[in-house]
Amino acid sequence: MASERVVIVGAGQAGGQIAAALRIAGYVGEIALVGEEIHPPYQRPPLSKAYLAGEVDVAQVLLRPAEYYVKHAIALKLGARVAAIDRAEHCVTLTTGEVLPYSWLALATGARVRPLPIPGVDDPRVFYLRTLADIDQIRSALAGAARIVIIGGGFIGLEAAAILRTLGLAVTVIEIQDRLMPRVVSPTISAFYLELHGKRGVEVMTNTGVTAIVGRGVQLTNGRTVRADAVIIGVGVVPNVELAQAAGLACDNGIVVDNCARTEDPRIVAAGDCTQHPNALLGRRLRLESVHNAVEQAATAAKTILGTPHPYAQVPWFWSDQYEFKLQMVGISTGYDSEVVRGTIANGKFSVFYYRAGKLLGINSVNRPMDHMQGRRLLGAGLSPTPAQVADAAFNLKTIVAPN
Ligand code: FAD
Ligand code: NAP
Repeated sequence: MASERVVIVGAGQAGGQIAAALRIAGYVGEIALVGEEIHPPYQRPPLSKAYLAGEVDVAQVLLRPAEYYVKHAIALKLGARVAAIDRAEHCVTLTTGEVLPYSWLALATGARVRPLPIPGVDDPRVFYLRTLADIDQIRSALAGAARIVIIGGGFIGLEAAAILRTLGLAVTVIEIQDRLMPRVVSPTISAFYLELHGKRGVEVMTNTGVTAIVGRGVQLTNGRTVRADAVIIGVGVVPNVELAQAAGLACDNGIVVDNCARTEDPRIVAAGDCTQHPNALLGRRLRLESVHNAVEQAATAAKTILGTPHPYAQVPWFWSDQYEFKLQMVGISTGYDSEVVRGTIANGKFSVFYYRAGKLLGINSVNRPMDHMQGRRLLGAGLSPTPAQVADAAFNLKTIVAPN
């Protein structure tokens, strides 16, 4: 075992944050941050937004400038993949053959795109959207393109549709389910976004799949073929668990960790999109795909490494930007038995509050940031405003969280 060295596998949002949190807390041992991609840790959210639009460059999406890692003695090993973990010998082996002993190992391997198993996906005009390299390729393909087909009406698909439509391209979105963003938002929100994209000129087809991509034609399950100069696929992600699995760690739709980010191995923690973890506030285990979770779980993992474990107990929240509309989500909007709308859907400033048996479960807000902020406090404190209070847009929700 290395005397004092943390090896972090995955230089993404969570991996970068574990390294920074360790140094901020005064950790003086060695830190090696190993990442398969060639860039220092960067933010993915701008990739389907400002970076796709060409409004920001690589330097602006980096979490920290490259010099940060030098200054804080964090050994960045980029373009390097960890191939195996030897738990008995406390070391990892890179595909280059390099062996790195560790006293603590942190797995922050994230997720990868779910492949679409249809003929024609390997055509050079077909792209997935997850990494900086993916966007650079998409942007090159946009030069001279007029028609884009996007497969998947989730966050990736709709954020990309909003940007590409705004750039003047003809955009068609194909979604296999009966509504948009079905995994995360309720039918009320899906309906608002269906109308919004329609009004902006995006053709959206729900209840529709893709059977093949042949030349410039995308063949659909409804018998139609849509012309495309480029195709973007955003049909979900799968967690990168194979490395952990091969090392014998428990995995179940994610690397299984406890509320302190510990795996069953006392020297291995895990954080971010790759984990399946308990959430005391929600009362269940789940896997999340969000920046907030990656950052907070990274902080939890760092505390465990530092010997000051502190249970992770966070209300999940995340956001999506489409056109000038900011969708903010807090809590979980599945399993509800009633919903209450606050504000006005027609003017694009509203929130939907979800309840089960009278208890607030989650809130989706469209251009109502105060509802989102108050909702984070309410859900964090386990408080539920009454439906009448929510429906009254003049009622100040703050008075429930902080009476007087
Ligand atoms: P990742 O960011 O996936 O990083 C994991 C890294 O580990 C990758 O670079 C991978 O190559 C590397 N890796 C994996 N295995 C190995 C190995 N064996 N050896 C070395 N390296 C390895 N969330 C929001 O909350 N709001 C948003 O608006 C939002 N927008 C998004 C937009 C896009 C286009 C995408 C793709 C995601 C978006 N997300 C958003 C989700 C958010 O970015 C992710 O939840 C977050 O990046 C997860 O961080 P992570 O570190 O767990 O995983
Ligand atoms: P997603 O949210 O899971 O949405 C993908 C959608 O595509 C799902 O509705 C899916 O339906 C559908 N689909 C699956 N197969 C299809 C097919 N063959 N044809 C047409 N539609 C199909 O995933 P995503 O949009 O690809 O996003 C990937 C990751 O990036 C996620 O982690 C997401 O959270 C993250 N992200 C987040 C944000 C944000 O928070 N603002 C923005 C962008 C990306 P099924 O459910 O039936 O598979």
